[in-house]
Amino acid sequence: MLRGDEPFPAAARKALANDQMRRNLRHATTTIRAKSGRVIAELPDWQRLRDAGSALKADTMARLPELLTQLEEQVTEAGGVVHWAADANEANAIVTRLVRDTGETRVIKVKSMATMEIGLNDALEEAGITPVETDLAELIVQLGDDKPSHILVPAIHRNRTEIRDLFLREMPGVDPALTDDPPVLAAAARRYLRATFLSTKVAVSGANFGIAETGTLAVVESEGNGRMCLTLPETLITVMGIEKLVPAWRDLEVFLQLLPRASTGERMNPYTSMWTGVTPGDGPQNFHLVLLDNGRTRVLGDEVGRQALHCIRCSACLNVCPVYERTGGHAYGSVYPGPIGAVLSPQLTGVADNASLPYASSLCGACFDACPVKIDIPSILVHLRNQAPHPRSERAAMGAAAYTMDHPHLYHGAQHAAKLSKYAGRRLPPPLSGWTDHRDLPAPPKQTFRDWWGKR
Ligand code: SF4
Repeated sequence: MLRGDEPFPAAARKALANDQMRRNLRHATTTIRAKSGRVIAELPDWQRLRDAGSALKADTMARLPELLTQLEEQVTEAGGVVHWAADANEANAIVTRLVRDTGETRVIKVKSMATMEIGLNDALEEAGITPVETDLAELIVQLGDDKPSHILVPAIHRNRTEIRDLFLREMPGVDPALTDDPPVLAAAARRYLRATFLSTKVAVSGANFGIAETGTLAVVESEGNGRMCLTLPETLITVMGIEKLVPAWRDLEVFLQLLPRASTGERMNPYTSMWTGVTPGDGPQNFHLVLLDNGRTRVLGDEVGRQALHCIRCSACLNVCPVYERTGGHAYGSVYPGPIGAVLSPQLTGVADNASLPYASSLCGACFDACPVKIDIPSILVHLRNQAPHPRSERAAMGAAAYTMDHPHLYHGAQHAAKLSKYAGRRLPPPLSGWTDHRDLPAPPKQTFRDWWGKR
């Protein structure tokens, strides 16, 4: 689920031809940006909150093994069972076995990037278990046999008429007179889901935060479907990436201010559900926590790239990215789209397997400014570009340039040759023409710095 079928440039070219999707995206990202900007401006200490979020995440990553062990101890003490999954296959096998052990063949799901990353729905279906997504946008994606295109608004590429048509086609028992009025569409989904909530005994969730100090897990959401999944079933299975940890309960104070303002543009998210192990007679009586690595410890080993693990999945970087706004999420070919996808997915899979993603950026830096935990995405992009495989011709050209710059006489000669060249200020000839397809070749100045210096 992390590797695109085709490189970003080819997928982006196709996406750019979809006018409807671009209109939907522009409308949605502009609306969220404006809303988020308004509520962020209300906080005089927003920058200090960002600093605190960044420092807390850096501290967590520096002590991850110790904090994970603490989390495991606390969850176990509170009656939960902790499982460790090295990769997607292991995590899917654990969840499938746990569901099978209950004897159930259907699970309800809270929207979770981690379960999408490992392709859990496909694994469950292969085992004869039906996963039902309960977040409205995820439900739209699931009914349409589609893929999410935004972290927070997975069906951002669909407009309401498309959704009405989809419901009429795919939703069992839907009113044939359904209109495309958003409240009417939401009510139809609510009716469809209510019966499922009340009759399903197993739920699968992700987690926004796991608190090492207390063993508490937290899910934040807007629709209340998460609250239903986390409280009604007999068995709850939570799949959490190991980077979602925070050291202490009080650290939530910082993240619960940063996340809703940066993501949905709300002062508080409507539902914050927290649970610690099991409580007799209240909520799920069996709780399993699957701690997922799937490449994260490798990312942790890279001093520049590890910042990507600080991400709290707010999607602010997507909403400000000029590339994302035009191509949409599908072009990234990864569960994590936009700027965070461009730095996280290549690291989780290995850069060679997702080599085009670090180039899916203009390096304008808007993502860095918007990120509530101050992840320096542009620096990671450049760092990953250096690791991506480059064509032999490009490597040879760069080697020749480095050699020339290392030898003053050669460099001087090259500057004069450039001034005399008939290509100065124009397009380069093949095989270098690709470089100037979308850029101007700058005309060299009439006087070089060395000439200027020499005259004085
Ligand atoms: S990288 Fe920053 S802005 Fe982007 S989703 Fe993660 S936390 Fe939000």
